[in-house]
Amino acid sequence: MDRREFLEATTVLAGSTLIGHVPQPQPAPPMIGIQAGAVSFVDEGTEKVLDNLQQLASVNTIFLATFTYGRGIAGRQVPGQPLPDHGKQEYDTATFRGGNFATPHPQYYSNTAIKPEKAPDHGGYDVIADVLPAARRRGMKVICWFEDVFAADVPGLDQAREVFASGPAPSTACHRNPNTRNFWLGLVEDYLRSYDVDGLMWGSERQGPLGNVLVASHGGGGAGGRGACFCRYCVEAARQQGINVDRAKDGYARLVAWAAAVRGGQKPVDGAFVTFWRLLVKYPEIIAWEKLWNDALSDTYRDMHKRAHEIAPAKGIGWHIWHNNSFSPLYRAEQDYADFSQYSDFLKVVMYNFCGGERLAQYVRNVNRSLFADLTLEQTLELTYSVQQYHDQPLDKIPAAGLGADYVLRETKRAIAGAGANVKIWPGIDIDIPTAATSKKTTPDDVYASVKAAFAGGAPGVLLSRKYSEMRLDNLRGAGRAIRERR
Ligand SMILES: [Zn+2]
Repeated sequence: MDRREFLEATTVLAGSTLIGHVPQPQPAPPMIGIQAGAVSFVDEGTEKVLDNLQQLASVNTIFLATFTYGRGIAGRQVPGQPLPDHGKQEYDTATFRGGNFATPHPQYYSNTAIKPEKAPDHGGYDVIADVLPAARRRGMKVICWFEDVFAADVPGLDQAREVFASGPAPSTACHRNPNTRNFWLGLVEDYLRSYDVDGLMWGSERQGPLGNVLVASHGGGGAGGRGACFCRYCVEAARQQGINVDRAKDGYARLVAWAAAVRGGQKPVDGAFVTFWRLLVKYPEIIAWEKLWNDALSDTYRDMHKRAHEIAPAKGIGWHIWHNNSFSPLYRAEQDYADFSQYSDFLKVVMYNFCGGERLAQYVRNVNRSLFADLTLEQTLELTYSVQQYHDQPLDKIPAAGLGADYVLRETKRAIAGAGANVKIWPGIDIDIPTAATSKKTTPDDVYASVKAAFAGGAPGVLLSRKYSEMRLDNLRGAGRAIRERR
């Protein structure tokens, strides 16, 4: 119970004593969050945006996009998609850069080579300094929302990059490299010491080398098709665990060659699945390296959680869980909510159901050209539904129909059951996430149904996603309708 909730509870208690009955404990009001980037406040005016969020959707917590070089959570509508009915009616393609949308304070980055760049997009504008006091006046909370997305040319990133056996240098930073780890810890410290924000959320939409080589994802994020990181830090960690580095390199080289052949249409005599599994049992180092990658990521979560709690023990820090969790059982196996409960105050589990149909179809096409090349596309989808514990429409329908609210309900229940009582589950709700012209588009009734489903599943809050600058106001009203009914 925070101070405000305590005051509310004691006020209720005092009032009840006067009229002479014992009060029932009041459930905490739901967290109604929305993700929003700096450009919206600059374009529309801070008070106007806050008016919309409060009046249309009863938002009480703003997840400010404070660090990213990506367009998923910052910037205006992505090019090629219709502009929504608010904000500046032009695209910012040519001017978008990203970085830290607040003000980086250099003292927190002394032990990383990665330069803490201020996003140049809006001149000297500091989104936290602007929005935080205005939100506070309205009783709204502010959480810094930052993600694992760098531009390839960030100064110092060359000392943190993943090192692949071949191909061009990636823009992905190795989670084990101290320059990477210290950069994220620096951001945690900077946001918590420089601003009186209410908490932090970080997200990494990447997976380990095994899923990457298999292209076991819906096509977003990650280093699709690339191999494993063999930087000196990963190699040293492997040696300490007695993992044979040369055999791991050999195993991944063979796996990459296998994946290229199967994607190219070759059919091994023993089939795709058997020859894949044969590689795994001959080269268990492939799995060992996959675990190394995930260990470095969970250590990152653990370190960030520890640093945040050292600085501000009463403020929460939690994580955005990538949508691939809904599609790939390989990735889902690595998102163990029980493990997360050791270093998370909350989880925003992505349950974007409208774009989810198109994304699931893309995942199915991807793995149908690697791990499940022995199956038909429809069989691959049926297998995915069965092992992922939800069922929806057939493949030819899901891009246009999206996934139903039942998917949101099931994923909410699964997350709550897995994470336990100490971690809040805030389902990520899809509002106007860009899809192809022929794919599902958001309607107010759809949003109403998915928010209702999240609450029916027991969620103590929802997080409207991905960003206000791509949402239509009527669709926000749909969320508001479900939220008012919850109260
Ligand atoms: Zn590495």
